[in-house]
Amino acid sequence: MRTQLYIDGKWAEPVDGGSIEVINPATEEAFATLAIGNEKDADLAVKAARRAFDKDGWPQTTGKQRAVYLRRIATLIRERLEDIAKLEVLDNGKPLPEARWDIGDAAGCFDYYADLAEQLDDSNNQELAVSDDRFRCKVRREPLGVVGAIIPWNYPLLMSAWKVAPALAAGCTVVLKPAEITSLTAVELAAIAQQAELPAGVLNIVTGSGSRAGQAIITHPQVDKLAFTGSGRIGSHIMAEAAKDIKRVSLELGGKSPMVIFEDADIEAAVEWIMFGIFWNQGQVCSATSRVLVQRPIYDKLLERLAAETRKITIGNGMDEGVLLGPLVSRAQHETVQAAVERAREEGATVLVGGGRPASFDKGYYFEPTVITDMSLDSTVWNEEIFGPVVCVRPFDTEEEAVEVANDSRFGLAAAVMTKDQPRADRVSNALRAGIVWVNCSQPTFTEAPWGGYKQSGLGRELGKWGLENYLEIKQVTSFVSSDPWGWYIK
Ligand code: ADP
Repeated sequence: MRTQLYIDGKWAEPVDGGSIEVINPATEEAFATLAIGNEKDADLAVKAARRAFDKDGWPQTTGKQRAVYLRRIATLIRERLEDIAKLEVLDNGKPLPEARWDIGDAAGCFDYYADLAEQLDDSNNQELAVSDDRFRCKVRREPLGVVGAIIPWNYPLLMSAWKVAPALAAGCTVVLKPAEITSLTAVELAAIAQQAELPAGVLNIVTGSGSRAGQAIITHPQVDKLAFTGSGRIGSHIMAEAAKDIKRVSLELGGKSPMVIFEDADIEAAVEWIMFGIFWNQGQVCSATSRVLVQRPIYDKLLERLAAETRKITIGNGMDEGVLLGPLVSRAQHETVQAAVERAREEGATVLVGGGRPASFDKGYYFEPTVITDMSLDSTVWNEEIFGPVVCVRPFDTEEEAVEVANDSRFGLAAAVMTKDQPRADRVSNALRAGIVWVNCSQPTFTEAPWGGYKQSGLGRELGKWGLENYLEIKQVTSFVSSDPWGWYIK
């Protein structure tokens, strides 16, 4: 399998013919060749998106017309769900049932924004009462232009959908750059867009590196908005680049999301939600439950149950039946996670379970599910995002202390609270400084609900109606409707 770029409705070789091998993280073997576009390809893609926006009439289509394309894309994703899910496993390493879930969600996202595109027709052009009845004011929401969407490797197709679906629903055109190590399902999305007969230039996909294709997109003067999911370091860089010509920007960045477990919580349920929160997708999740705070009376019991269940997890190739933890996405990520665990040891923490490559694997980027305890509050392992299957657990005594420790982070993406006491659940969820708070659960994500972080976890919200607003400008149209002249200068 050898991919191409998708620019202006056509498949194209990169201008300089660049390519890289795509590695299966479970076997470390190359199984495909990915086209690597550079600045020139990015420029062609942006110009195609610009023309589709400025001249070819995509922004002037009605929401109902755009919804037809979005629904076609959703249907085509569902028709090919099994093949796309398997491709995602080969590329990313995640277990197949998780990949099926992601691809189903990606299809659902296109359907959801089809509905919102239709509703936009009815809700647009609303009249606004103003303080002078000689004027009539209407408020229109209009597509904001050409979007540069840059996405990471942890949920390749799903993150593409979170950006492409609302952008197209709004009437924007898009240049999408997936992460270079997991681009194959984005290329499939291009094939689906072509099959859905999406007009040329409306969606362009440039595979390539962040430093060349990505950098060319984020600095391109003809791009109006940048939508990014990835690391804080690159997010900050993108925001700085966007500032130079006031591009709109939305960022979904990292986290170090706490879960606060009170003594009245159901211990078995809490252990299940911790594991779901930190081992799903090998912990390579921006909202992963990576800091767990347990009230002291149940600390030992909970830790014992968490350790016992963690040791039972089936690790293996994501294609194999019954596997719950696949390999990490790349050698580099494996090295990063290993280094974080070594640093935790050096800083005096206890690695209670896991901590390295499982002994039974000599190939593949496998990393054991890992539980760490006895770390200090100022340790690196407690404060920095690891993006791997590594959970830190600490005891606490009072509600006040738990909230203070949970909030003592530069991140604020998600948080969870486990208790049977509803007033306490309400108090703590109000006090937690995070964009998403889960009560007696962790990680459920709904296309209808806003997703995004406080503090350094991001800027703006994706999903729901907020996700659509990311791609809309607001225009007031004010008309003078009085029969009397205005009469200030000319009486
Ligand atoms: P991760 O840690 O998940 O790899 P990154 O933030 O490094 O996150 O990458 C997320 C996405 O950002 C990838 O698609 C990557 O290629 C892209 N990227 C990296 N550097 C740049 C850059 N300078 N300009 C635009 N995109 C970039």
